[in-house]
Amino acid sequence: AAPAAKEFLGHPRGLFVLFFAEMWERFSYYGMRAILILFLTKHFLFGDEPAYAIYGAYTSMVYITPVLGGYLADRYLGARQAVLVGGFFIAAGHLMIALFEGPAGQQGLYLDGFYLGLASIIIGTGFLKANISVLVGQLYRRDDPRRDPAFSIFYMGINLGGWLGPIAVGILGETVGWSWGFGAAGVGMVAGLIVFIIFGHELRGAGEPPNRALLKAPVAAGLSREWIIYLGAVVGVGISWWLIRFQNAVGWALMTCFVITYAFIVWKAVAKLAREDRDRIFAALFLITLCPLFWALFEQAGSSLNLYTDRQVDRTILGWEVPASVFQSVNSIFIIILAPIFAWLWTFLNKRGLEPSAPFKFGIGLIVVGLGFLVLVAGAASTPGELTPVIFIFAVYLLHTMAELCFSPVGLSNMTRLSVASMTGLMMGAWFLATAGGNFIASLIAQATGGEGAGPERVLEVYSTIGWFSAAVGVGVLAVAPFVARLMHLDTLG
Ligand code: GLN
Repeated sequence: AAPAAKEFLGHPRGLFVLFFAEMWERFSYYGMRAILILFLTKHFLFGDEPAYAIYGAYTSMVYITPVLGGYLADRYLGARQAVLVGGFFIAAGHLMIALFEGPAGQQGLYLDGFYLGLASIIIGTGFLKANISVLVGQLYRRDDPRRDPAFSIFYMGINLGGWLGPIAVGILGETVGWSWGFGAAGVGMVAGLIVFIIFGHELRGAGEPPNRALLKAPVAAGLSREWIIYLGAVVGVGISWWLIRFQNAVGWALMTCFVITYAFIVWKAVAKLAREDRDRIFAALFLITLCPLFWALFEQAGSSLNLYTDRQVDRTILGWEVPASVFQSVNSIFIIILAPIFAWLWTFLNKRGLEPSAPFKFGIGLIVVGLGFLVLVAGAASTPGELTPVIFIFAVYLLHTMAELCFSPVGLSNMTRLSVASMTGLMMGAWFLATAGGNFIASLIAQATGGEGAGPERVLEVYSTIGWFSAAVGVGVLAVAPFVARLMHLDTLG
């Protein structure tokens, strides 16, 4: 038997390697995302609508490629190599954006270079994001009770990055110079890669390719499968580079993938599964169907809420006018504070047989995310003709974070829990696709807030509509939750 892995805080040391690598990756992602819409409108001088369209194409595509990246790692590359390759593409993408800043207001070649950077991040995230979570899982046996706590620790790493990234990148980008911000995001990802390379041996063989000989053997024109995948990634960068300027094409591609995946899951469930397993898949599909609505509201954060904070909010705190991008870190700070409290709350309720079912939590999530917008609308109305007090921005993000904790981790864990083993990857893929769809709809909503000559009233009108809509759907979900919960057959879930 292999000697026991060295531990730290009762967990394999590999967990902390993944923690810091993902922390730096999220530092770069959320840092860059915090200044992206500001950069598009203030540097490239796009109008709000086209800026939201580009932003939306990017944020949807970063959630589509992990489906493919997960598949390639499972079949050929292994998760470890996939994370390494992904980190490389991500770092290159951020640094490219920093290099192609160009003079303010100039598009042309600089804009092409900027799109190339975004495309590289899209492909890199495809290789990295799902697979680094897979590696966390591989450090533990299936029945190891430390598995769930390990994912909670890992989620802290994600949000540590999501907290520090917007502060560092935001302050540098908005006050020193855009390329300083994007450069900092790139340096962050390089730091993550260095952690991963130097301490990779702590993973003790997790995420090896399933068949190394197959991966390295030449198949066509002297190229191995491994090199064909890398070449495919470069082609993928080209395709994303082209797609990013055609938001409608991204939308259609997304919808087609989603419908096919959804139909395939229904067919598999009906044709291949016994009654209880089939019911559980239908319960999971119910959750997947609600997923786009949630992210469509939640993901206003980096786009329309970011610009609203920049233009309509009194951002002066203790005499310092805080750059709008810095507020993008508030969600992560609240997650770090609230995640342990929610975990405790669910366990507390569970012991008393009172824990709400997953669909019930989804209903709450939809109500609370809608409520967040209604609170902002009320807050803005309380100071007519003046800037909105900053407390309401904190209130939106607080409510949105509480909603996220009823939604995101619950959705992820139920995809694996409700699936049969042979369909887990497929269900995860569908969840990511639905998230991508949410990001896409989010950009349509953002575009509705910023048409030609639209003032702040338009933003608030849209926020009020989506707030009420989501809350109403949430109430409907609470009503049907008991029926969906019955489909989960938790008594026989083992
Ligand atoms: N904030 C989390 C992350 O970046 C979850 C994001 C999501 O699933 N949309 O990993």
